[in-house]
Amino acid sequence: MTVIEPAPHHASGALPPLAARTQVVGGSPVRDILAVTARPEVINFAGGLPAPELFDREGIAAAFRDVLAETPERALQYSTTEGEPSLRAGLAARFSARGLPTDADDLLVTTGSQQGLSLLATALLEPGDTVLVEDPCYLAALQAFGLAGARVVAVPSDADGVDPQALEELVLRERPKLFYTVPTFQNPTGRTLPAERRAAVARAAARRGVWIVEDDPYGELRYEGERVPWIAAYPGAEDRTVLLGSFSKVMAPGIRLGWLRAPAELRRACAVAKQAADLHTPTLNQLAAARCLPGLDAHVARIRDVYRERRDAMLAGLAGALPEGSSWNRPQGGMFLWARLPESYDTTALLADVVRHEVAYVPGAPFYAGQPDRSTLRLCFVTQTPQEIAEGLRRLAQGLRS
Ligand code: PMP
Repeated sequence: MTVIEPAPHHASGALPPLAARTQVVGGSPVRDILAVTARPEVINFAGGLPAPELFDREGIAAAFRDVLAETPERALQYSTTEGEPSLRAGLAARFSARGLPTDADDLLVTTGSQQGLSLLATALLEPGDTVLVEDPCYLAALQAFGLAGARVVAVPSDADGVDPQALEELVLRERPKLFYTVPTFQNPTGRTLPAERRAAVARAAARRGVWIVEDDPYGELRYEGERVPWIAAYPGAEDRTVLLGSFSKVMAPGIRLGWLRAPAELRRACAVAKQAADLHTPTLNQLAAARCLPGLDAHVARIRDVYRERRDAMLAGLAGALPEGSSWNRPQGGMFLWARLPESYDTTALLADVVRHEVAYVPGAPFYAGQPDRSTLRLCFVTQTPQEIAEGLRRLAQGLRS
């Protein structure tokens, strides 16, 4: 008879340990800073918060009221995992009108686009699989891939985004499952991948066999310049691109609504992962959002006008706020801009001093999957009025001088 030794913790009655992946992935440093800056006195350029005074409170309230008055049994009931037909049809029509032919069945509604990232990680990644990301990269995507046990490798990127040739070489060398990118008004940098590079990324993915995850929560917030087509629309990318979208930046993040447009087999795998995660996204929110869709373009046009002014206010004040020798970009849309201070500055080390002056930014270092540039920082320009932005930049100047 074989005697099975109990594991040490079972022998002692101590609790079994948490999964190893919880040790690898820490909490988001952005969220930690948000906690510190919750004090109303702090002018918070750190969070990626849409301007709350621009939420269409009345329109959204009316949509919820009407849905509850007209179809309460449906709105309060369980729904399908794929999502409410009226919402999927409305979203499909928006994609098609923007040059990407889409059926309602091509879409899976998600509880924010963040859930789309988790579902993709579950559907595509084995522990130890490689994921390629642009550098710097959206932080919570790094978390989602890290929690799945992925090895994350940074693709060399510049002010226009990822370098397609470097991407192709890394696909050959690292054999990744997927390449993750925010090609339009990226978080954290605000940069946009030009059309030629999108075409080259699509060609590389077609030649070398890799999934593209194209995350686009900001594309509708364009303040100038011409819209660039989604990577998903370029030849070669059609059958291998997952396009993620969200209402968070154009309607309201609190309703937690996003979507995922993906080829059938992968979409079905994501739907199974979603069954296990939350069965479905709240029915009431989906039905209310579907009612808001016809008015969404007009609402986005209003937001764009206000956000453009705020971007310009921040651009106008930066030269006076950042130390001599700093540089920054001029995003054509979105919510963020990216600044680089002279090399001797470490924005992580400086943050505590700056927050004492009641203003906050996000240090650039945590966004890098590769070698971090410690002199970089992210500023969100949409949350405050131009007057508050000017005051925030005065405080930032003082904080950086001190
Ligand atoms: N992707 C990117 C690039 C983001 O910046 C965000 C929000 N900060 C998300 C996904 C998640 O957005 P949500 O879950 O609210 O749709």
